[in-house]
Amino acid sequence: MAGRTSAERAGNSVETYSNFIDGEWREPQGGETVDVMSPSDGQVFAKIARGNAKDIDQAVAAARNAFEEGDWGRLSAVERGRILMKLGELITQNAEDLAQLEARDTGKPMSQARADMVAAARYFEYYGSAADKVHGDTIPFMQGYSVTTIPEPHGVTGHVIPWNYPAQMFGRTLAPALAMGNATVLKPAEEACLTPLRITALAQEAGFPAGAINVVTGLGEEAGAALSGHGDINFLAFTGSPEVGTLIQKAAAENYIGCVLELGGKSPQIIFADADLEAALPVVLNAIVQNGGQTCSAGSRVLVEQSIFDDVVDTLKDRFSGLTAGPHDTDLNCGGLISAGQAKRVIGFIERAEQAGIPLLARGKIAAGAPEGGHYVAPALFGPVPENSEMGREEVFGPVLSVLPFKDEDDAVRLANDTDYGLVAGVWTSDAGRLMRVGKRVKCGQIFLNGYGAGGGIELPFGGVRKSGHGREKGFEAMLEFCATKTLVHNHG
Ligand code: NAD
Repeated sequence: MAGRTSAERAGNSVETYSNFIDGEWREPQGGETVDVMSPSDGQVFAKIARGNAKDIDQAVAAARNAFEEGDWGRLSAVERGRILMKLGELITQNAEDLAQLEARDTGKPMSQARADMVAAARYFEYYGSAADKVHGDTIPFMQGYSVTTIPEPHGVTGHVIPWNYPAQMFGRTLAPALAMGNATVLKPAEEACLTPLRITALAQEAGFPAGAINVVTGLGEEAGAALSGHGDINFLAFTGSPEVGTLIQKAAAENYIGCVLELGGKSPQIIFADADLEAALPVVLNAIVQNGGQTCSAGSRVLVEQSIFDDVVDTLKDRFSGLTAGPHDTDLNCGGLISAGQAKRVIGFIERAEQAGIPLLARGKIAAGAPEGGHYVAPALFGPVPENSEMGREEVFGPVLSVLPFKDEDDAVRLANDTDYGLVAGVWTSDAGRLMRVGKRVKCGQIFLNGYGAGGGIELPFGGVRKSGHGREKGFEAMLEFCATKTLVHNHG
């Protein structure tokens, strides 16, 4: 498989992956690599290129050439779409291998990694079939004029993605940009980026011309900063922390370009006393356990009507006590967290909540025999969590659930909106009127009514408000982020 270099050919068990620039695998200009560690045992099992500003320069130049002069820019929308759909097919054909790699690289349980590959393929299928369906308008204007609008790709788009869903994020950010005809440069996360590299190799097989997809791996403050600050990028797409999102937005402002930012959340699930708890609670549990809570749209704050608070808490306690974290190949509820640093960060949240006197209601287990070096954190349930505490307001990004009581509908809405974030929410009630009222009053980008889907739904526009970011990914709307309208005003008399 392209992407692996000399180490593998020499039979070394630590594979080394290169950058992919202008249709070929290239060693990094600085000659350095970054170790890739498995969260399941803490062992280094691969190395990636430590790309720098020079690699980014090459990648941006290759993308610019592909867009302006190369084969990519000459393709029709339907031809682009076919190549995207072919890549979707190839991901499906290679799904099991990709899932094994994803699970090893991120620590996530195998069943989650398998589900991720279905989603990764679906991004290319969905946007491939949408490529020839974005069209302009004609606008009635003054006598003697005809006015037409044309949605045009931005040109070269820069993409910086996180480590929690590398294969899915590859599809989510690149597929709509490519479908619109942009040429792309991706900087995946240094903690986990092997499936993006493998899928890039499949993209070559699918027929993407040189320069359409360029991937430079490495550190955020080096390759990431060089990409986001590059003067020849026309649009930026970023998913990750609010802190880095702010840097990306500043870099975009310096270059007078737009950006879409998805920066996580503290998403509430609101459970009213008349909710169908049998339906709700398994979904509520899954929304925080999925991917070890390392999901931007994790349902990390459960708001429960006071009269059923104790019942709900009792059931959640039972279920939380039965959760187990362990190695990816044992396919338990949670895997190891992405890094020792992330595990330490999550444990810090748990310890500070305990020190603040917030009741720790239940704790899951770490599987007996889980490797010492793995980054495991036993799932934790806290409640009642004070609304103004760190645990009640901040994104933990781990398997930690906060439960908070509310008095009535107004109080529920007030609490739901009382964070800096606004990504996703869920409402559970058997009152149809209330579902819609609350659905409209909670400030966020996506709200599930009697359901919840952390990260689900390629077809569903997704994004946040406030500290969760702005712009929309997924769904048809993502296509519109990756183009700009040109208005042609024809004075024909
Ligand atoms: P991060 O924001 O630092 O990293 C995300 C991506 O940005 C990575 O590719 C990284 O290399 C890149 N990056 C880092 N510094 C950069 C810079 N100066 N310029 C350009 N790119 C840069 O996230 P993290 O440190 O991996 O995680 C920290 C916290 O962020 C997590 O604990 C979690 O709360 C949040 N997070 C959110 C998401 C999400 O999906 N919204 C994903 C990952 C992390």
